[in-house]
Amino acid sequence: MKKPIYLDYNATTPLDSAVLEAMLPFLKEEFGNASSSSHAYGWEASRAVEKSRKLIAEILSAKKQEVIFTSGATESNNLAILGLMANFRNSRSHIITSKIEHKAVLDVVKYLETTGVEVTQLEVNKYGQVLPEQVKNSIKSNTRLISIMMANNEIGTLQPITEIGQIAKQHGVFFHTDAAQSFGKIEIDVDKMGIDLLSISGHKIYGPKGVGALYIRSEKPKIVIQPQQFGGGQEHNIRPGTLNVPGIVGLAKAAELMINLRNDETFRIKNLQKKLINGVLENCPQAQLNGHPTERLCNNVSFSFHNLNADVFSLGLSGLAISSGSACSSAMAAPSYVLKAIGHSDGLARTTLRIGIGRSTTEEDIELCMSKILQMVKKSQEISI
Ligand SMILES: *Cc1c(COP(=O)(O)O)cnc(C)c1O
Repeated sequence: MKKPIYLDYNATTPLDSAVLEAMLPFLKEEFGNASSSSHAYGWEASRAVEKSRKLIAEILSAKKQEVIFTSGATESNNLAILGLMANFRNSRSHIITSKIEHKAVLDVVKYLETTGVEVTQLEVNKYGQVLPEQVKNSIKSNTRLISIMMANNEIGTLQPITEIGQIAKQHGVFFHTDAAQSFGKIEIDVDKMGIDLLSISGHKIYGPKGVGALYIRSEKPKIVIQPQQFGGGQEHNIRPGTLNVPGIVGLAKAAELMINLRNDETFRIKNLQKKLINGVLENCPQAQLNGHPTERLCNNVSFSFHNLNADVFSLGLSGLAISSGSACSSAMAAPSYVLKAIGHSDGLARTTLRIGIGRSTTEEDIELCMSKILQMVKKSQEISI
């Protein structure tokens, strides 16, 4: 059976072959434990880890010692939020986040709520944007942390991170951002953007799954993160455990490729995005683009279709690996909370498709995707009537 065309790059990406090449030695002959300081096996592993750390720090305009390695953006988000809030256990404190964060933030703050932390989940506008003014107005004397994602994984909307960072600084509140979708795609400068904590993931940038990193600001101000697990003291004791050397090398190689290819890839993928958006909107009056028309990830397209029966929707999309809603929510019966937050009814949320464009996507893939979507809508409309 022919495999469907992969257009779900916001869910995950394939490993780039150059990333695999960079990882292989560390899965084979360079197998040392980066903590083994008494012999060359350990030194080689440690050298590779520190080189990777330096590279990721440079991409963020951060310092090398401000980057620690984790198992992915989920862990980075958990560690950032739980580890920071643990400093304020004895006072009733407040977190500001949004309604459209990834579950790896929402479920963390939901948990914190059960421990007595106050949580404000900001509404977003119809494009999925948090308004800086709203952030400002929600700050209280006990607000400790603002956690707002850089780019949304379902609808691609970019948040006004620099403005939010400024507001956080002005009010002495710490600022975390989940950059799993945006890292490597848009330029990030943690100082200019006023970011104190930032989460990234390997498998969204053609790196391996199960590896990520957390940026932790070391000065102006110094952020203290309380460890959430205990062990051998690795990563300044903040995240102990034998380092995933091949994964870390792969994450850094993937990040390096993202930066080296960024200009060309952004241009090419943006054109494919435009082609798909215009093609569907022009030929399908029931289609609506979700997310912001311009302030969005270049590789995300999300459409909702009006007046279609959800039960027949997506029948006829065989041959395309795309997602309805987000990868994490589509298996569940409940409509996406992100789409609900931008004002969609349950029905409209259910007739939604997300197309993620990537490094190996061709013009032909996009043309085929477009014609399949148009066909599908036409068919399900006939059935719906
Ligand atoms: C994928 C993703 C995550 C989870 O990352 P993992 O590395 O899979 O744990 C978190 N946040 C966003 C925005 C994501 O897109």
